[in-house]
Amino acid sequence: MEVEGPREALSHFFATLPRRLPRQAVVAEVVTEEISLQGTATFEVVASQTGGAVTVQLPPDLGTCEACLGELCDPENRRYRYPFTNCVDCGPRFTIIRELPYDRANTSMDRFRLCADCAREYDDPGDRRFHAEPNACPKCGPRLRLLGQGGCCLAEGEAALHEACALLRQGAIIAVKGLGGYHLACDAFDAAVVGRLRERKQRPHKTLAVMLRDLTVVGRYFQPSPEEIAELVSTARPIVVLDGVLSPAVSPDTRDTGVFLPYTPLHHLLLEEFEALVMTSGNRLEEPIAQDENQAIRLLEQGIADAVLAHDRPVLHRCDDSVLRVVEGRRHFLRRSRGFVPAPLRIADDSPVILATGSDLKNTFCLVVGGLAYVSQHIGDLAEHSTYAFFEEEIDRWLELLRVTPALVAHDLHPGYLSSRYASRLDGIPAVGVQHHHAHIAGVMAEHGLMRPVLGIALDGTGYGEDESVWGGEFLVADRATFERVGHFGRYPLPGGERAIEEPWRMAVAICRLEGIEWAGPVEQYEAVAGLLAADLNCPLTSSAGRLFDAAAALLGLCDRAGYEAQGAIRLEAAADPGVRRRYSYTIREGTQLPGGLPVLDFGPAFVELVAEARRGVPVAEISAAFHNAVAAGCAELAARLAEEREVTDILLSGGVFQNRLISTRLSEDLRNRGLSVHFNIAVPANDGGLCLGQATVALARWERGEVRCA
Ligand SMILES: [Zn+2]
Ligand SMILES: [Zn+2]
Ligand SMILES: [Zn+2]
Repeated sequence: MEVEGPREALSHFFATLPRRLPRQAVVAEVVTEEISLQGTATFEVVASQTGGAVTVQLPPDLGTCEACLGELCDPENRRYRYPFTNCVDCGPRFTIIRELPYDRANTSMDRFRLCADCAREYDDPGDRRFHAEPNACPKCGPRLRLLGQGGCCLAEGEAALHEACALLRQGAIIAVKGLGGYHLACDAFDAAVVGRLRERKQRPHKTLAVMLRDLTVVGRYFQPSPEEIAELVSTARPIVVLDGVLSPAVSPDTRDTGVFLPYTPLHHLLLEEFEALVMTSGNRLEEPIAQDENQAIRLLEQGIADAVLAHDRPVLHRCDDSVLRVVEGRRHFLRRSRGFVPAPLRIADDSPVILATGSDLKNTFCLVVGGLAYVSQHIGDLAEHSTYAFFEEEIDRWLELLRVTPALVAHDLHPGYLSSRYASRLDGIPAVGVQHHHAHIAGVMAEHGLMRPVLGIALDGTGYGEDESVWGGEFLVADRATFERVGHFGRYPLPGGERAIEEPWRMAVAICRLEGIEWAGPVEQYEAVAGLLAADLNCPLTSSAGRLFDAAAALLGLCDRAGYEAQGAIRLEAAADPGVRRRYSYTIREGTQLPGGLPVLDFGPAFVELVAEARRGVPVAEISAAFHNAVAAGCAELAARLAEEREVTDILLSGGVFQNRLISTRLSEDLRNRGLSVHFNIAVPANDGGLCLGQATVALARWERGEVRCA
């Protein structure tokens, strides 16, 4: 803005402004510059100018504000019960943007012509809807439609809503269009319909998210902490994983539930009729979330949804709900998407344009422009054909949106990853391969602004190692550009490779054989694995931490076959009694497994004790806790030793295993007690959903050192 006046008036203005910001304003930085007097006397908003690389912030989608909610419930208001009510403080943003600047003409609202009343609000600087780009009312804005088989329209407007509620009450599953795509909704208290939804989505066990009417209803079933409440009611309206179970049909495997509050007027209207609705992504298996009417009608044809509650405001960027959990009072993302994307994170003062393609699982990608890292919405598992197409499309859309071309592309070292192959196919753009676990740790460095060397503990399921073996329980001394592996978990063969991830019993047999534990499970299982091991057929060695949790779960009879990623680990954690403080044994062996003599953290002894106690009938709750405690204590002891040897004081924890709250809290507690500083991911998930940020950070650091050149 340009302001003019006497010096005192100006300094008063600049002092006051930051204290009187609108609800959604965030001050990233203030730069002032003196210009010659213009002699203007009025307040004027000048039309945005286009052209050049875009540096303005892209706004994330915002949950409905109190003022709009008030209008929604006020029979006298012209927006009474209008499901697309929004204002400058709330409503869709990122999901409707075609290009920048963020003006109505560049959004999917361009097809709706503002009526005279809406236009007046839009043009009035004193109105709450001044330049509210998605501004709409029943006269001029989007409309609801209820679609049945074949896409035929069953009802429109208020009648569509009424009819949808009636169907939900009768136990139907309805695809409901939200901000970033379709949800599948059903009554959360009707176990039969929840069971049907699981069958249709082929998702028998994984927890489903539930939308509860308001905080009063939340309080009826859960006891959220003040931090959890703050997250629930925040404008991002993420799914917050709360302790407690609404119904076993919703969370069969765990003792917690993903809970969120209504975030669009349509949700508020639906939830007037229900205390709680299951609201899960409208897709099948690993497909991306349904975006438009055609995809929603496919959900009907596939027999997944019984009806579709649609509207005519197009979704331009699909965006799943964000999921987070509060651990020790801090936000831990499990999935960062709607409500947070596309807010950037500053990782440097300036930079070339870098694209980081992320991981193949839980894919997100990252674009760094002028030192700002934009991490994309959740894309998903690239092995699924339609998800890979979404990945390619969305990269193109983001490049268009930010009006940039990458000068450098970062990717995982795994040569077989689709995300790596995509990077290598970008003609003329130098590619930087980044080791998986280094990327995990570099991401935490970027989030906390750390430059000096750190000790990283990266624990996950699978990551391609520099020696081409499968890593996953790694101790690294790292800075942003380079790392050195300084320790790792003991290695076990992974019998059957990928299949061992889906079938945790395989890992259990392998560990029993190596540790001399008598196998008490089915003989066929033992023989299958013994055969593979004897022939050394498809048994890559792995130092994966994730696989140890799988094996422990299988040995305790909690999970023989994983129906979804990390099911064994999730059930094992859910089974643990956090009150149990004793632990099993581990050993730290000196350089016996690899050339170079790296210390090896070995949990063989823990497995021997675990099986012995299970056979003695010790409760699973106690066994599981003692196993978790051993892993945390082993990591803390080795980390403390390495930190002292290497003279580092910052310990960075990342990788999917840190979604396990018991491991995270036990390990950080132990490290802090030893006087070390502990850092987790805060702005992106610890799982592979945050990997792209670390890849971008490493590529940038190598470019800064002159080790790589830009296109
Ligand atoms: Zn509003
Ligand atoms: Zn209107
Ligand atoms: Zn990983």
